[in-house]
Amino acid sequence: TFKAIRIDKADKGTTATLTQFDEAELMDGDVTVKVEWSALNYKDGLALTGKAPVVRRFPMIAGIDFAGTVEQSSHPAWKPGDAVICTGWGMGETHLGAYAEKARVKGDWLVGLPQGLSARDAMAIGTAGFTAMLAVLALEKHGLTPASGPVVVTGAAGGVGSVAIAVLARLGYHVIASTGRLAEGDYLKSLGAAEIIDRNELSAPAKPLGKERWAGGIDSVGSHTLANLLAMTRYGGAIAACGLAAGMDLPSSVAPFILRGVCLLGIDSVMCPLPARKAAWQRLAADLDRGKLSEITHEIELDQVASLGPQILAGQVRGRTVVRIS
Ligand code: NAP
Repeated sequence: TFKAIRIDKADKGTTATLTQFDEAELMDGDVTVKVEWSALNYKDGLALTGKAPVVRRFPMIAGIDFAGTVEQSSHPAWKPGDAVICTGWGMGETHLGAYAEKARVKGDWLVGLPQGLSARDAMAIGTAGFTAMLAVLALEKHGLTPASGPVVVTGAAGGVGSVAIAVLARLGYHVIASTGRLAEGDYLKSLGAAEIIDRNELSAPAKPLGKERWAGGIDSVGSHTLANLLAMTRYGGAIAACGLAAGMDLPSSVAPFILRGVCLLGIDSVMCPLPARKAAWQRLAADLDRGKLSEITHEIELDQVASLGPQILAGQVRGRTVVRIS
């Protein structure tokens, strides 16, 4: 057996318990990994609290991302001792997840730990940081450069937001950070934000078009915030939509698209194909300052995870939380 955070169905909702899990109950997969580090993401908060039905199988092991070392493999790409990263693919939702000393997954899901990153670094970045980099790559593919103009990052003090700011600032962008926690202004400036705005400026219902304030943006918030971002994007600019911290809805109009040629870029980290994953991890190894990463990162133990679920959903967790597994 091994230690794991197990999610069970209860009369009312679900329960999350740190317990022993039987290795024989692990699901199919051609690679078994000794998990060393995991992380706390917004979706983990949803799974741990049962606030949204992200867990689709019971019992489930929670946790959507891990870094660790291959123990056994019948997959041609991996052998015992390889250092690997796994994020998404339904881990913690439909496939037994990462808050466990052992995981069995498909070798096709894994990315080798890039040169220059430790397993702990990889999970300090985690799904949130990986998603932030997918958003940066999407904006670059659109043609955005620092010369295009400022970029806005919403949910700035959260996981996706913090990594996005650090990477964009390092690349030379003028970053406008939108936060509900103005007390975190010094933190956001230390990551490289040039300007800080109150998220209330972006949370009221959007007009079809507003003053052109930025050339691009990375949004973790959704709803009216995303609608306002689009309405305030410069001609030809683009916004990468990653999240729904304020809601799934998008009360927008077509005006930004048909009158300013603005593009809305969808970002998905869960089913993201392997080549794009490898590219994003390589760029994280190259373009994320390690000093900034440690400033963003807070470390906890496995037995502290469950109590932090409600806090991340309430927007009270700053930056990234890395979980020591073994
Ligand atoms: P997080 O650390 O909790 O960050 C979310 C941030 O959003 C909070 O820190 C807060 O920032 C802001 N926020 C929270 N509630 C809000 C509200 N009601 N209205 C406006 N702003 C609010 O979570 P995360 O792990 O970075 O994830 C961020 C979002 O991206 C989540 O919705 C998550 O589901 C999504 N996500 C999507 C993917 C994907 O594949 N597309 C991958 C990872 C994450 P401030 O305090 O600075 O305002």
